[in-house]
Amino acid sequence: MSLLAQDRRHVWHPFTQHLGAADPLPIASARGAELFTTDGRRILDLISSWWVNLHGHCHPTIASAIARQAETLEQVIFAGCTHAPAVELATRLATLLPGDLNRVFFSDDGSTAVEAALKMALHAHANRGEPQRQRLIAFDGGYHGDTVGAMAAGQASGFFTPYQALLFPVHTLPYPATWPGDAAVEQKEAAALAALEQLIAREGPTLAALIIEPLVQGASGMRMCRPAFVQEVVTRAQAAGILVIFDEIMTGFGRTGTLFACEQVGVVPDMICLSKGLTGGFLPMSVTVCRDSIYAAFLGPAFAQALAHGHSYTANPLGCAAALASLQVFEAEQTLARIAAIAAAHAAALPLLQAIPRTRRHRQCGTILAFDIIGGEEGYGAAIGQRLQAAFRARGLLIRPLGNVVYLLPPYCISAAQLNEAYQGMVAVLQSVLADQD
Ligand code: PLP
Repeated sequence: MSLLAQDRRHVWHPFTQHLGAADPLPIASARGAELFTTDGRRILDLISSWWVNLHGHCHPTIASAIARQAETLEQVIFAGCTHAPAVELATRLATLLPGDLNRVFFSDDGSTAVEAALKMALHAHANRGEPQRQRLIAFDGGYHGDTVGAMAAGQASGFFTPYQALLFPVHTLPYPATWPGDAAVEQKEAAALAALEQLIAREGPTLAALIIEPLVQGASGMRMCRPAFVQEVVTRAQAAGILVIFDEIMTGFGRTGTLFACEQVGVVPDMICLSKGLTGGFLPMSVTVCRDSIYAAFLGPAFAQALAHGHSYTANPLGCAAALASLQVFEAEQTLARIAAIAAAHAAALPLLQAIPRTRRHRQCGTILAFDIIGGEEGYGAAIGQRLQAAFRARGLLIRPLGNVVYLLPPYCISAAQLNEAYQGMVAVLQSVLADQD
């Protein structure tokens, strides 16, 4: 049986309506920014394979670090044992992150990093004598993953309606999504801050934590906000004793132009969740890094004060080795300079994209470029997304619109020529697909 026939028979793909879905791309190998199919096609990966890949597929430094680690120590229980890759990675992350974000808790993926953060927040308050602080604040459109706590935190993203009965109540604030030339931005920010103030005035002593994707909400459509807004939110929340969780699972490791988005915001959150790019896109792993004061709240004579949480593969040595190698590549290849070059190329390409009829709200944050298609359905389920995805694919471009939002989020190894191919391809595909719609 062919690979695709077997896939159709036995495999259930994520975020896929299988009825009527196009066959998945059968990928045989990958190198740099390119994927190669089993039938010899070359596809340019313009979404970093779901936002995970940083330095290119099969980067030799990371591949060989994993191979070396696999021959030395592949896995060991992390309760009661430790190992050099985890300790070195925790130390390195603490050095790179601002302020006293010094204590690293390892998990397996973005969702589980968020779960750990939510539990840390409630438990830290309880340990400090404020057990009534149990409620979470999130933002309209925020997405934090697919496990139950992460779904509850992200319920305003609209993905989870059938599971509503599983989700705990969360206070949702309006999110002031903006774009260049948006005349209403100040008004939207003021409304969101006023909603936060009112919530604090009304429910202050019950509020445990606020979770936000700083600068860019990913899954709900690359919705960007201004750093000063996030800074205001953090200042007001922390002043009210609310722990602030930055979900930098997508924004971390350079996507927004700096290593972490919190650098542009100029604040130190109480916790930060990192995953996706952590291992350079090689292995699933995540961390929840918290400030010293939060860790201190878990120290005490009773086990009940400890964080009774962990996973079988916590701090897997292969993942840690990959993450260390990825950070090494960041320095060796001057990745931040590459990121700046991608940001500059995006900025230069914006007029080209703005000229496409029926597109609006062209926006950019670091290496992320996005715009909306107008005149049809909006939101994640918008049919135009599927049509465009198929047309991009036929042109050798892996671009996966979020409904009516088209975006690029390329790996940092992408060349100027490949970026140009992406912009030109986008223009051609959009012009032809949107013309067909008329
Ligand atoms: N948080 C954000 C901001 C994300 O973008 C995602 C995934 O897209 C997650 C959390 C969940 O991560 P994972 O899919 O690795 O569980």
